[in-house]
Amino acid sequence: MARSRPPSPLPRREFLRGAGACAGLWALPGWNVAGLFSRPKSVAIVGAGVAGLSAARALSRLGIDTVVLEALDRIGGRVHTAALGELRIDRGASWVHGMSPKNPLVELFRRLGVRLVPDHVPFHLFEEGNGFLPKWEVKALNKSVTAFIDALPALRAQLGPAADVGGGIERFLTLRGLSGTTRSRVRFMLNAFFEAWYAAPTRRLSLEWIWEDGSFPGLDGFPEGGYGQLITALAEGVDVRTGSPVQSIHYGPSGVRLETSHETLRATHAIVTVPLGVLKQGAIHFDPPLPQAKQAALDRLEMGSFEKVHLLFDHPLGGQMDELFYRPRAGGRLFLKDLWPFSGAPAVLALAGGEFALRMASQSDAEVLRETAEMVQRVTSSGPPSIHALPPVRGDVTRWRDARFFGGSFSYLPPGASPADQQALAAPHQRLHFAGEATHDRYYASVHGALLSGLREAGRIFGRDLDVHDLI
Ligand SMILES: Cc1cc2nc3c(=O)[nH]c(=O)nc-3n(C[C@H](O)[C@H](O)[C@H](O)COP(=O)(O)OP(=O)(O)OC[C@H]3O[C@@H](n4cnc5c(N)ncnc54)[C@H](O)[C@@H]3O)c2cc1C
Repeated sequence: MARSRPPSPLPRREFLRGAGACAGLWALPGWNVAGLFSRPKSVAIVGAGVAGLSAARALSRLGIDTVVLEALDRIGGRVHTAALGELRIDRGASWVHGMSPKNPLVELFRRLGVRLVPDHVPFHLFEEGNGFLPKWEVKALNKSVTAFIDALPALRAQLGPAADVGGGIERFLTLRGLSGTTRSRVRFMLNAFFEAWYAAPTRRLSLEWIWEDGSFPGLDGFPEGGYGQLITALAEGVDVRTGSPVQSIHYGPSGVRLETSHETLRATHAIVTVPLGVLKQGAIHFDPPLPQAKQAALDRLEMGSFEKVHLLFDHPLGGQMDELFYRPRAGGRLFLKDLWPFSGAPAVLALAGGEFALRMASQSDAEVLRETAEMVQRVTSSGPPSIHALPPVRGDVTRWRDARFFGGSFSYLPPGASPADQQALAAPHQRLHFAGEATHDRYYASVHGALLSGLREAGRIFGRDLDVHDLI
């Protein structure tokens, strides 16, 4: 169950406000932060997710006047800890991927006094009709993922740079001479694995760039009490204005002007951290239009679909659950995870990536919850002891794909896109800077990538490289 957050050991920052009058362009009405223009640099940040808040916190601590404009009435973006009954749930990110000292999140959570609970539970495979597959078969299927990753260079050489992962999987199955049930199970496992990791149907994923993104060593872990504790700490002492969707950004060689529905802000620099989906939709008007190279990168990169369903039951689930890929008879796949070992609550998390997430988009919350609960019931009643999992007392279904200020869960590289597009998206243009997970060419689609991208742009503006120690 949720543990109350210990007091933040991150040093409380005195928000730096100058007192002097200002002149020139920056004296125009707009900022309503007292004395903002007394400093040579002022930064307006669009979006209060991890990227925006880490940039804002670092710059503020370095004495640069910073304001964050956030469209929603809450901060955190795709990090969103919410309540489901007594349970704290993370509707967006929940794992710290790779609990090694190299991961900047590990140091931040350590300083916050938030324990990272290692996620190390047995993994199963459950087929509707057949139940749990035997351990030896699950082990063999896991090995097929490693074998596929080892075969990537050969597959790329055979299929060329425009190939997709789905095509690569089919070629791999053929090269291995697999047929019948084994072929269909290995196909299922590979599709389920890559869809869950990259949030897109494997037919939409670039074979050339899959598994080329970076990772940190070590187990994954959950921040005990929720990821939102990171957001609270990053936002401490930062001027964040929620309910302020930015509609247009005017920029030039000497400054920027941002317009929301109710105010106009001027600054020497802006950092745009809105999700790739928002930029792709053209929801923010840029004047002048973004350079061609950036627009082309925006057109090539894609936003994936990855949704979460939380179910909270009124009594402990019996039977064998741990974590598993669920294979419905009708096709598709879902990842189910028993949250009992982590939260002490009778709760299950279902993750739908790629195709299954797209299918969920056409269903009502009630339908999704009922279908997921039925799956949990089949799983938990198939292994001894038999129990009744239905009905869940409460449930929560995310809709990141259709959410206005997101347009998807996280970015991925489809065939034709490459890390050069992520670099083009990240390139500053005049006084306009870009951060956010989709701008990181190594750690995209992650919280640590978002954090590092915010520090990268804050560093570019400040004039030196910044790291996690500039946040604490
Ligand atoms: C379901 C799900 C599960 C995930 N799981 C993990 C995980 O376990 N581990 C992990 O490392 N990563 C995970 N991720 C990815 C991770 O959450 C993101 O990569 C990261 O949080 C992105 O941060 P960001 O600052 O780049 O963007 P965001 O958090 O999206 O922040 C951008 C902000 O911009 C705001 N905005 C949009 N338009 C405007 C506008 N016009 N004006 C002002 N503000 C605007 C948005 O409201 C948002 O608050 C997950 C993501 C999802 C959706």
